[in-house]
Amino acid sequence: MFPDFTLRYARLPAHLFTRFDPEPVTAPRLVAFNRPLAEELGFDLTAYDEAEATQWFSGNRVPPGAEPLAQAYAGHQFGNFVPRLGDGRAVLLGEVTDRHGQLRDIQLKGAGCTPFSRGGDGRAPLGPVLREYLVSEAMHAMGVPATRALAAVTTGERVFRRTPEPGAVLTRVAKSHLRVGTFQYFAARGDTEALRVLADLAIERHYPHLSSMTGGERYLALLEAVLARQAALVAKWMGLGFIHGVMNTDNTAISGETLDFGPCAFMEAYDPRTVFSSVDAGARYAYANQPWMTQWNIARLGETLLPLIEKNPEHAIEPATALLEAYPDIYEAEWLAVMRTKLGLEREETRDRALVDALLEAMHHGRADFTLTFRQLADAAETEDDEVLVALFENPGAIRDWLPRWRERLTLEQAGGAAIASRMRSVNPLYIPRNHKVEEALVAAAERDDFGTFATLGEVLSQPFTEQPGREAYARPAALDERVFRTFCGT
Ligand code: AMP
Ligand code: MG
Repeated sequence: MFPDFTLRYARLPAHLFTRFDPEPVTAPRLVAFNRPLAEELGFDLTAYDEAEATQWFSGNRVPPGAEPLAQAYAGHQFGNFVPRLGDGRAVLLGEVTDRHGQLRDIQLKGAGCTPFSRGGDGRAPLGPVLREYLVSEAMHAMGVPATRALAAVTTGERVFRRTPEPGAVLTRVAKSHLRVGTFQYFAARGDTEALRVLADLAIERHYPHLSSMTGGERYLALLEAVLARQAALVAKWMGLGFIHGVMNTDNTAISGETLDFGPCAFMEAYDPRTVFSSVDAGARYAYANQPWMTQWNIARLGETLLPLIEKNPEHAIEPATALLEAYPDIYEAEWLAVMRTKLGLEREETRDRALVDALLEAMHHGRADFTLTFRQLADAAETEDDEVLVALFENPGAIRDWLPRWRERLTLEQAGGAAIASRMRSVNPLYIPRNHKVEEALVAAAERDDFGTFATLGEVLSQPFTEQPGREAYARPAALDERVFRTFCGT
């Protein structure tokens, strides 16, 4: 059933990782399995055997051809450099070639204590595993590059965090697990050869259009390409009200996929200063800071690439800096493109920026639900009836002033109201992983062994743009007593 492994990372120089087999668990039970993703990855599901799948996705048996390993990486955590992090509880089984010919990593998260575990127990609690499963799959369904969730297994063992919780293992799929922190690990050790290996691997796997480039230009172009992809990614987050929560450099993927869904959350009432994570006391990763944290993270990547760009790294500072200085414009263009499509605008007009800003200001002032505002705007484009939309705002004055400006701007579009509304509905989700619904699913699973709540939520989120009759409750913001103000890494 398991597709053949390629073992790309396992064949890199041995000091880039440590060979490490997952540690067996007592009583594994498969609680989620992503069949569409399995098919995309080349699994033969006609030969599907749940007992066998449970053995593999728990780490109790190593699938044929895999050579599990823990990757070395470093990272800036909340601005502080930690020279040695690494996979403290994750193992990479290997890579498989998916149906599109793309190499994908298959990783077990929560698979036991590796040489990188430091004080940790190498395990993952069920709650965070299910959260990552739900949110990463929802991000994918909403068109945001993200790692994927292939399976979740409970271990039959307890893990101890704030309270004891059931233990679990997540099978995560990524275009690769190369991080900014992977480069930082070797840069901190002055290992230019390892950096070259990693940079060449990044180009091969994620930026093959650069593969014919040679010399220092090749690595400068890599930096530029990662910068562009990360700018596009964070613009998408901003367009959905997504707050990652731990944008440390070890959680910043070179592929441009959203990586690590710890204390992440979606904003409801719009406020650019929103922070959920209990560990982000300084609000470093607040919603509105995210684009600038991305720039900061890519600057850290740039530092690691200097010795590949020029023999004398000093000489590389100027071109690398010039490239990073272009970020605000690149990000602004990506973000404006996202916001234009959210407002149903295909043409580009100079005044669009001011139009978007005015809407956000009205939303902030009116404490309007981020997701529903854009969704209701689609209805407003079609019906010219604004009352449902306006009811989302506590102080409706500003939105009432704004709507005529938007309608006037829409007259410049080629399409009519119905066509504009339908394209708006294809980018503005009705269903997002609302924090209280995610919480409800995690509690049901951890406390009552009820996985149905989790499964139903996942099903709703797999069609985020399509209205699903009978599922109105999934579209609603949290009632006062349901609100989630803090999220926990729980790792
Ligand atoms: P994260 O906050 O999940 O991005 O992890 C940051 C670092 O802590 C990584 O090096 C992880 O491997 C490590 N880590 C997180 N949780 C554990 C755990 N339970 N046991 C060992 N290492 C962990
Ligand atoms: Mg991480």
